[in-house]
Amino acid sequence: MRQSFSSAMPETGDTAVLTPVGQAPVAPAPAPAPVALHAVTRVYRSKAGPVTALAGVTASFAAGTFTAVMGPSGSGKSTLLHCAAGLDRPTSGEVILAGTVLRGLSETKLTLLRRRHVGFVFQSFNLLPYLTAGQNVALPLRLAGRRPRRDEISAALAAVGLDGRAGHRPAELSGGQQQRVAIARALVTGPQVIFADEPTGMLDSASGHEVLSLLRRLADQRQATVVMVTHDPAAAARADRVLFLADGRLAGELADPDPRTVADRLAGLTADAGLRAAGERPPGERPPGGRMAQGRAARGLAGAVR
Ligand code: ADP
Ligand code: MG
Repeated sequence: MRQSFSSAMPETGDTAVLTPVGQAPVAPAPAPAPVALHAVTRVYRSKAGPVTALAGVTASFAAGTFTAVMGPSGSGKSTLLHCAAGLDRPTSGEVILAGTVLRGLSETKLTLLRRRHVGFVFQSFNLLPYLTAGQNVALPLRLAGRRPRRDEISAALAAVGLDGRAGHRPAELSGGQQQRVAIARALVTGPQVIFADEPTGMLDSASGHEVLSLLRRLADQRQATVVMVTHDPAAAARADRVLFLADGRLAGELADPDPRTVADRLAGLTADAGLRAAGERPPGERPPGGRMAQGRAARGLAGAVR
């Protein structure tokens, strides 16, 4: 972790005042993580039957940390982000966001909580096509009942390298530029928690690098909690840790990641997912049934190798 955790904790001065005379000062409790998931499961009902997108994920995300989430396509990365951000409701399990348990909150309360604490960069941008870039960026401020100042909108756009584009509509911008407008919109209210779903997927390497530096600075300088889904091992290596997902479950964690190690782990998970999709059992994974099933799985695996 590049940022020491103690700087996110409250000053110790108040605690000392409360300590009875003659007793050692009590260390302050660590600040609770701004985002925590406990045994979160999400099952989608579809025509083809239930789909388990998340199957019991427990994880927490501290202030001032930048986490990358990786895993094969369909492993539940977007669902994890949506549940953690209060955009989707888990089938079971708990999400705690900015000190609030989300279960049971009304849609209105959930919306207000999100508006106050969360910036979300969607995989599909979600820009409003009939508004200009500047108007899109101003939207969260207007929704919060504020009249946006022109200079703060220009500053938000400049921070993602888009100064001078405030008057363009999304259709007049490239995919990468649209993605950067979406990032400016997510950051304009100064949220303490930022979720980004493949924010650099559409960007050329120079603007991708800028966006990653921006996310890094939010964690380091503003003590924000940043959680980013990415397929790119080099992007993931800018984070403090990587969480790997496979089949809706956590499949490992890597602290202080480097691109090589990340790429190797991801390749392993993707190969396993391919085997599972083909009805085979990845090596090292315990078979689900008894001896008969083991025999069938072993024969299947041998067949796949042949
Ligand atoms: P990822 O982002 O890792 O590619 P997702 O979280 O989007 O994965 O999806 C996880 C699984 O849940 C996939 O099998 C996907 O098809 C399924 N899924 C996602 N959203 C829905 C939905 N709204 N209805 C039905 N199935 C869904
Ligand atoms: Mg996704």
